[in-house]
Amino acid sequence: MKNNNKKQLKRKYFSGDFEITNWKNLQIELEKLLSYKIDSKEDLINFWETVSELDKIVGDKGAWLYINMTRFSNNTEYRDAFNLFISEIAANSELYSFKLKKKFYDSQFSRELSSEYVHLKKIIANEIELFREENTPLFVAEQKLFVKYREIVSKMTAIYEGEEKTIQQLSLYLENNNRHVRQEAWQLMLGCYKKEQIRLDNLFDELKSIRVQIAQNAGFKNYRDYAHQAKGRFSYTPEDLLKFHETVEKVVVPLVEEFKKERKDKLGLEILKPWDMKVNVEGEFPNPFETHQDLIAKGIKTISQVDSLFGEELENMQKNGFIDAQNRKAKAPGGYCYPLFEQGSSFIFMNAVGIERDVTTFIHESGHAMHNMMSKEQAISQYLDMPMEVAELASMGMELISIDHWDNFYKSGMSEIIIKKELIDKINFLPWEVAVDAFQHWIYLNPNHTAKERGEYFASLLDRFKIDGDWTDLEKEKAMRWMMQLHIFQLPFYYIEYAIAQLGAIAIYRNYRQNPQKAVEQYKNFLALGYTKPVSEVYKAAGIKFDFSQKYIAELMEFVKGELR
Ligand SMILES: [Zn+2]
Repeated sequence: MKNNNKKQLKRKYFSGDFEITNWKNLQIELEKLLSYKIDSKEDLINFWETVSELDKIVGDKGAWLYINMTRFSNNTEYRDAFNLFISEIAANSELYSFKLKKKFYDSQFSRELSSEYVHLKKIIANEIELFREENTPLFVAEQKLFVKYREIVSKMTAIYEGEEKTIQQLSLYLENNNRHVRQEAWQLMLGCYKKEQIRLDNLFDELKSIRVQIAQNAGFKNYRDYAHQAKGRFSYTPEDLLKFHETVEKVVVPLVEEFKKERKDKLGLEILKPWDMKVNVEGEFPNPFETHQDLIAKGIKTISQVDSLFGEELENMQKNGFIDAQNRKAKAPGGYCYPLFEQGSSFIFMNAVGIERDVTTFIHESGHAMHNMMSKEQAISQYLDMPMEVAELASMGMELISIDHWDNFYKSGMSEIIIKKELIDKINFLPWEVAVDAFQHWIYLNPNHTAKERGEYFASLLDRFKIDGDWTDLEKEKAMRWMMQLHIFQLPFYYIEYAIAQLGAIAIYRNYRQNPQKAVEQYKNFLALGYTKPVSEVYKAAGIKFDFSQKYIAELMEFVKGELR
């Protein structure tokens, strides 16, 4: 398979033509690194930079395999190549990676490293501490179960108006102006899950017991605390998150209730039901762009107006064929931005169909891409492996600091409506993000619960955070609504970062409103840092606080209210 052979950043330790062709040739390099001679502090740094360079080479290999597989999802050769990479190269690398980290950390010269390496040592020490060889097969088992989840969900279809529709297709009807259409689509969607409820509950129980075992093997009392540490969340504790849930309940939910009242009035309804939450109350927006090329052209123009350097990077990406925004058959759903370390660039993948959400997605992924571009000179791979609180601050921040220029997509006079809608959407999402997190805290602190108790607890969270309007007569649906959230199956505890980063992005936007130039400068400084510093310092560089306090969040909500006036 031919990968893109575009201009690369210069390698420092490996020759330009070195390529990973299979596990064997990678293993040779890893063995060499294990016997790397370290006789000084400088040797130690060179050693780790060499490990990092190899990490980047391996990372890019995986990136292209993933990109090819998702761009051409009916190509079995691409799919097999990716699966082989995961089962062979990625799985076999685990133990080597652990040994290399230990070699770095245990080296006598590690103690002589200057303070700029403190953060790196912390990341590495944490990974060493958590590694257990006996957990490797459990991670593989977890992956296999997740593939099962995906199989079950991807096969879900329902007949709507005589035609077979997938969940994704049905979800588009939730935006329909006709309430009957919305209600039917919503009930069909939930009906698909209802049919699979027992299988999904059993599958989740299996996942849960594997996770409980992983945590036990690593010496933890419960999986929640293990997951917290495995995610390298050094700046806050699980208890801080419980307080954060309470704060959102106190400070954000009342504001969302105000938005709901407005929604209800605008739709002319007595009661809001779960199927009334997605329809655009401002009426239908004109299509923001015609073709996927048009989206990219307008997107580049928009991002250039934030900063010309950003526009140049997107133009380069487009020239190199690193943006695939077209929606077509035999392409995987969704959108992502994949870093290409050796190019110092990124690949943007999405499925644009001509709606407002595509604009948000393009700008969002561009934010990730600018993060990769601005931090590309970092030699150490750990500094490019951004935790989600940091990564999503870049993308969500970009959405808001570019929003004044979204008039490239809309007729004049629309911008004000768009800005308000975007802000409301973002606030509306916070209670859900927190509920998904609170649910998982409960699950893993009470691992012996039954499926019934789990459903009941989730239903109680929907009440607590007042999610999706009125659930009267929808008790069954309410108890299984969580099954639609893929993260709970595939990426445990990965969700609250969206809420954290969203609040951060609002804080960046508040700065932007006061002084646009300064806010963009700070945003760029933050991007350039990558993950060279702890999360709170990275946020500080962006000109904002890393803070979950009630006072701070209330302040941000007041700002949003002011913007909406
Ligand atoms: Zn993102």
